Amino acid sequence: MSVAVLVVSERVVGEVPDVTFELLGKGREIASALGGELAIAVLGHQVGELPFGAADVAYVVDDPALANYAASAVEAALAAVVEAASPKVVLMSTGTVGLDLAASLAARLGAPMASYAVDVATEGDTVVATSQLYGGKLLAEVALEGSPAVVSVIPGSFAADAGRVGGAPRIETIAVSLDGAGARGEGVREPEASGVDITAADLLVSVGRGIGSKENLELVQELADALKVPLAASRPIIDQGWLPKPHQVGKSGKKVKPQVYLALGISGAPEHLEGMRSAGTIIACNTDPKAPIFEVAHYGTTVDLFDLVPELTERL
Ligand SMILES: Cc1cc2nc3c(=O)[nH]c(=O)nc-3n(C[C@H](O)[C@H](O)[C@H](O)COP(=O)(O)OP(=O)(O)OC[C@H]3O[C@@H](n4cnc5c(N)ncnc54)[C@H](O)[C@@H]3O)c2cc1C
Repeated sequence: MSVAVLVVSERVVGEVPDVTFELLGKGREIASALGGELAIAVLGHQVGELPFGAADVAYVVDDPALANYAASAVEAALAAVVEAASPKVVLMSTGTVGLDLAASLAARLGAPMASYAVDVATEGDTVVATSQLYGGKLLAEVALEGSPAVVSVIPGSFAADAGRVGGAPRIETIAVSLDGAGARGEGVREPEASGVDITAADLLVSVGRGIGSKENLELVQELADALKVPLAASRPIIDQGWLPKPHQVGKSGKKVKPQVYLALGISGAPEHLEGMRSAGTIIACNTDPKAPIFEVAHYGTTVDLFDLVPELTERL
């Protein structure tokens, strides 16, 4: 049987992240519809102990040049896997690896591509991706004619459980010369430690650009202090230097999963949702009733945060 779907593992260091299992679960559905196998590409060094989830076959490139992440080496390894597996669909995530490689892989292969997908389906032999545009304000349905169709999927779009279940896949070891790959990963290290750990909190007060200025942050800091929880924030707050990086939630910040996430003046861009959509209860305050944050919020209000926050702090 030929390979229908190739999932690219999103792991860079540590454990295989949930999104890889999400892709394997969805990949299994698509592979069944297309009548082929589900494969996973595992690119790294000394990767022997990694789980392969629901994959029927694992294509492994194990090379010292992949010990530390560098996009061009990983892309060269991935291209060799795609050539060997000859899949109809390549599924990646819009995470670290997928953002780096999906577009360049598609360009290298001359393959059709859709990014920021929240769903992937088939119509006959054609792959159809549903992609978010304008931070989720529009959904585009894109039919990908040609093979392989490269799709990068927003993490959190599918359940991960189905993708974890599996037996022992066939292992295909791919040898590839990465000498001319260009960039070489020299090491990976944790950023400087800070006193704040927003990933450990059961409740988070999180603030976005709706706060307007650095001076106004005092208002939400008082609320966080009253609740005895750390203050989290969307990326613009960090980019403007209003709070240090360890406070950032999202794609390029921390992934948090508190029992309660209070989002104040945060629009709910996909990159922010990526970091907090698994929170137990999401409560959003945003004056724009059409803000995408309300699509994931369990409770919401369009009251002005400058009215809500002092009132809340006082009551607490
Ligand atoms: C590669 C990449 C990585 C990224 N990584 C991250 C990331 O890790 N984390 C992240 O957050 N973003 C990230 N972003 C940026 C992301 O796309 C958004 O730009 C960002 O999340 C928007 O932040 P915001 O919601 O605070 O601001 P805005 O989108 O400007 O939203 C502000 C919201 O406040 C509301 N508002 C205004 N005044 C009030 C008021 N008085 N009361 C109540 N509500 C009010 C407005 O209606 C608006 O919805 C990334 C982007 C890229 C391209």
